[in-house]
Amino acid sequence: MQRIGFIGLGIMGKPMAQNLLKAGYPLVVYNRSRSAMDELAVEGAVLAESPKTVAQQTDIVISCVSDSPDVEAVALGSNGIIEGAKPGLLYIDMSTIAPATARKVYTALKEKGVDALDAPVSGGDIGAQQGTLSIMVGGDEAAFQRSLPVLQIMGKNIIYIGEAGAGQVTKACNQIVVALTVQAVAEALTLAKKSRVDVARVRDALMGGFAQSRILEVHGKRILEGNFQPGFKLNLHRKDMNIVLQAGREVGVPLLGSAQVTTLMDALLAQGKGDLDNAALATLYELLAGIRSDDVTETE
Ligand code: NAP
Repeated sequence: MQRIGFIGLGIMGKPMAQNLLKAGYPLVVYNRSRSAMDELAVEGAVLAESPKTVAQQTDIVISCVSDSPDVEAVALGSNGIIEGAKPGLLYIDMSTIAPATARKVYTALKEKGVDALDAPVSGGDIGAQQGTLSIMVGGDEAAFQRSLPVLQIMGKNIIYIGEAGAGQVTKACNQIVVALTVQAVAEALTLAKKSRVDVARVRDALMGGFAQSRILEVHGKRILEGNFQPGFKLNLHRKDMNIVLQAGREVGVPLLGSAQVTTLMDALLAQGKGDLDNAALATLYELLAGIRSDDVTETE
């Protein structure tokens, strides 16, 4: 059985790594801070001191860290994967990062005989725990075929999109749809509230028609209940909107809706709400509409 390395044991990475262990893969793990590693050691993982030593001991290395500079550091930095990699290693990055960074990592590792895939995910912490993530993959198709048995442990809807960076372009598209739909739901439910009609019934009516969506269902409920405990934090979604806007600039697509919703997110971050769920966009609408003047906590 192939030996797998896993770097980044956060909200997403830890359950993904645990699923690989449960499936019987020998696993070598590295996390920047120690506590998450100790937990995995109890479950049978071998601990490594750096991404470099992970690469030295494994056939496939997976990472799930925060942002583009973090992936660059882990893959190409000092004590990074590139320093420990032997030709034939497969590197799968499952973080959400800029397509341009994914291409840079792909090219640098290719020169060392290492195949790299960008394979960001959708489905949240629940999808990571249940092994039901949607995974969108960019890179060489032969490398994708090689990665499939491992990706199938972590996800269900696994789609090869195209060359390096294509997986991250897909994730950027995903984040546009999520952001603008959250905004639409927040806007609609604020109109309902200020019009003094029953907001729950409005949501029920919309759920049965063409406006139906998972975001109307889940975030609509959060907005109704005033429960903004994350979920997917505004801070992380704002990070993704940076990636979206940068990707649009690179290819010359004005992303009007994305730019606007990013500004709304900035207003929420300025109010110190970055750790709330992204459904907290509704609180800004309510503030602007004069429905609320107060601050919001995680659960009202
Ligand atoms: P998280 O809980 O904050 O975990 C981030 C992990 O990355 C931690 O293990 C952190 O180590 C590690 N890390 C960050 N910078 C690093 C660096 N420079 N070097 C080494 N390790 C570093 O975040 P998450 O929610 O798991 O998200 C991980 C990725 O998945 C992000 O790109 C996110 O956008 C994406 N994603 C998240 C969700 C979600 O619902 N949460 C859904 C889809 C995609 P420490 O423990 O030392 O901080």
